[in-house]
Amino acid sequence: MTYLFANWKMYLHHQEALALAQQLAHTTSSADTTITIFPTALSFLSVQEALATTNISCGVQNISWTPQGAYTGALSAHLAKDVGARYALVGHSERRYIFGESDSDVRKKIDAALESGMIPVVCIGETQEDVEAGKTAYRLKKQLMMAFEGLMLSDNQLIVAYEPVWAISQSGKGIACDPLQAEEQHAFIAEEIKRYTTAQVPLIYGGSVTADNVLSYISCHHIDGVLVGSASTRLESMSALIQAVTSK
Ligand code: PEP
Repeated sequence: MTYLFANWKMYLHHQEALALAQQLAHTTSSADTTITIFPTALSFLSVQEALATTNISCGVQNISWTPQGAYTGALSAHLAKDVGARYALVGHSERRYIFGESDSDVRKKIDAALESGMIPVVCIGETQEDVEAGKTAYRLKKQLMMAFEGLMLSDNQLIVAYEPVWAISQSGKGIACDPLQAEEQHAFIAEEIKRYTTAQVPLIYGGSVTADNVLSYISCHHIDGVLVGSASTRLESMSALIQAVTSK
């Protein structure tokens, strides 16, 4: 199975998101590709409905760790699951570094997603400062430990997205990670995960992925797919990504 996850972040207005989903509904993809769009929560239902006749599903960009109740402004995992979300991004670097989410906040969200029956897509990755301080392995180990310690998992119940923060467009430097380096880091992450679970945990790469470089990532042994931001928000580049991934 190859994953193509499209994080639309807060790039598109509602009508733009809806129009893009309606156009994507005409593209074809293969059964061994999982394509999921992560629109804003405000556009989730409309985008999901526009894609209802396709095998493209919808996920949410964020969940709160709270149960339902008196939590103004929060969207619980249960609410997301209830409207059809299969996947939830958790711990995206923009949540960690712009909104101050800690490793333990991320863990609470992982637990909430699993408890609701959703598949958390847990984003980890080192910052440019980590690289300069020689702390890349430390950062990845710590984020993985906080995410996995004590977790009882079955196969494919959780996905890890390795997203070096510096490689992300707009919020990072937007320099795509060299595929060989990405493969090395995924192999390292796969070994680390074995400390905590024997369950199968798909690993995907994110950071300035486009239709031009996607095959160089998904042809790597330890990389099961990609998480794409900017390039997934335009019809031409998203269609080209779908075509490239399904042609693998
Ligand atoms: C992301 O933020 O998840 C991401 C991968 O963004 P981009 O593709 O724009 O670098």
